[in-house]
Amino acid sequence: MEYPDRFDVIVIGGGHAGTEAALAAARMGSRTLLLTHNIETLGQMSCNPAIGGIGKSHLVKEIDALGGAMGLATDLGGIQFRVLNARKGPAVRATRAQADRVRYKAAIRGMLENQPNLTLFQQAAGDLIVDGDTVRGVVTESGVRFLGETVVLCTGTFLGGVIHIGLDNSRGGRAGDPPSNALAQRLRALPFRVDRLKTGTPPRLDAKSVDFSVLETQPGDSPTPVMSYLGDRDMHPRQVSCHIAHTNERTHEIIHANLDRSPMFSGVIEGVGPRYCPSIEDKVHRFADKASHQVFVEPEGLDTHELYPNGISTSLPFDVQLQVVRSIRGLENAHITRPGYAIEYDFFDPRDLRHSLETKFIHNLFFAGQINGTTGYEEAGAQGLLAGLNAARRAQGLDAWWPRRDEAYLGVLVDDLITLGTREPYRMFTSRAEYRLLLREDNADLRLTEAGRALGLVDERRWRVFSEKREAIEAESARLKASWVQPGSDAAARIEAKTGGSLGREYNLMDLLKRPELGYDDVAGLVGEPVSDERVAEQVQIQAKYQGYIDRQQAEIDKLKRHEATRLPEDLDYARVEGLSNEIRQKLAEARPETLAQASRISGVTPAAVSILLIHLKKRR
Ligand code: FAD
Repeated sequence: MEYPDRFDVIVIGGGHAGTEAALAAARMGSRTLLLTHNIETLGQMSCNPAIGGIGKSHLVKEIDALGGAMGLATDLGGIQFRVLNARKGPAVRATRAQADRVRYKAAIRGMLENQPNLTLFQQAAGDLIVDGDTVRGVVTESGVRFLGETVVLCTGTFLGGVIHIGLDNSRGGRAGDPPSNALAQRLRALPFRVDRLKTGTPPRLDAKSVDFSVLETQPGDSPTPVMSYLGDRDMHPRQVSCHIAHTNERTHEIIHANLDRSPMFSGVIEGVGPRYCPSIEDKVHRFADKASHQVFVEPEGLDTHELYPNGISTSLPFDVQLQVVRSIRGLENAHITRPGYAIEYDFFDPRDLRHSLETKFIHNLFFAGQINGTTGYEEAGAQGLLAGLNAARRAQGLDAWWPRRDEAYLGVLVDDLITLGTREPYRMFTSRAEYRLLLREDNADLRLTEAGRALGLVDERRWRVFSEKREAIEAESARLKASWVQPGSDAAARIEAKTGGSLGREYNLMDLLKRPELGYDDVAGLVGEPVSDERVAEQVQIQAKYQGYIDRQQAEIDKLKRHEATRLPEDLDYARVEGLSNEIRQKLAEARPETLAQASRISGVTPAAVSILLIHLKKRR
């Protein structure tokens, strides 16, 4: 049958990409359908129930700054929060939360059900309605036809999914869920480049069978960090600790002795796995000299005894998994509630996409999430939001929008994917962003919320909270610049006691705040009243301390923009340009671009490489 209502945007798949895509499109006023296998699994975390971490919390905060759901759901579901790299610079600082998977899912579902313009429907999509080179809708496996202006495909690990436990395998989208085979076949018939990737998950354990007394305890941070710009600590449920265990030589012996029963090592799995989230058999094989690996024993929730042993993802047979687990101190009597497994799935070469995440071959069809070769909830959510908003804009007859690499990690993610493609599951790192001093997790709202408001993604409440914060930062910065400490005053004496040097002349509070040994709390109350909002204080402090670096990075961006027309000599020998990777040298030598602008558009030539070329040209002159 044909469903009587027509939609502007149809999103297939209610994982992390699909839920952000559907919410974004609906927030922008588009009539949106979210079609998913199972409404009970909306927002389900297939692997560890943890959100954030290095490079990833930057994406969560950007999703949040654009009005998305992931940050708020984390605050509603998070049971242990920590700031990673807290002692390092703000560019690489990252918030990580262990979530209660049931509470997280409930939070996402609540947001979906309460979102105006959004309709949910439970069924598998089996086919796309394609007319020439334009998508017109979707047909479910039971034959319901939904017509829509645009379609966003967010099917995760489900396309042609095969689950491996030891040398046994079965078809599945993840444990307990069916694969998407009809849709996979349909997509393989379209002109996209398809390949296989794999990922894995560890066995889950019953906490009642674990001896925590011999494990290291890892409490969350105090005061508890918050993920969303609209979040606060009162939203968090009860907080709990995680624990740390270690593999040992016995564990590694068991793994070595059974590698021939691992589907990865016996050649059964062909897909490439995530380099930065390797299985335990991979780690033991690749780092043979390491006698031990850490295992973070993390709770799956407040109302369950299940634990997630982070660090021993595996596709070894169950009997070996049990031996591996029980060889670890504290887990000698551990009961496995669910075996670990690996999954192989189809992904589509993201070089066949535009920056908007629309496919190049089929108009109005967008891809987002793991289907594009990425791994991680955050990477999926960020792409979903971008694809959803661009699908809505297309349906509204508007041009596509995407952030540049110097504006957002989301810009870096999409630019990397569509220009470089990927041969292994792609995850975000701060090192992927050339302008990471500008792209901090603390300022994602200042970078993106205004754009989000203009796009129609940011509601009244978020806009008000953001505007008040931005004004408070500006007012406080102005106050610090206009507040002076005179030598010989009480305030000067307090500064001198802290720094051990004499003040000598008058200083304004902003200049004092730039000194490395002084923080906001040391200077802000010396003259006048400090602000009580810690987020405003944090921003004022970071801007003061890093302004020099930030200005330099901004100048670099401006310089690159100015030099785009600079000509590249025809005889330029790229092999002699120091600092370029061999891959980039080869691409430039083949393409022989005429200008820096042309060079920067070659797939794989990064802004950092363009900067190196510019320096090289200056040296030649
Ligand atoms: P998913 O979260 O997979 O969601 C896909 C959704 O689409 C599901 O709701 C599904 O039911 C629905 N769907 C699929 N096909 C159809 C259809 N035809 N019709 C209707 N609905 C459909 N990430 C890491 O960062 N680190 C890890 O170590 C890690 N390990 C993982 C281990 C396993 C076993 C799995 C399965 C995933 C792992 N991940 C890991 C990846 C992480 O789960 C994904 O990156 C993330 O969930 C991707 O989000 P997504 O929205 O693209 O897809």
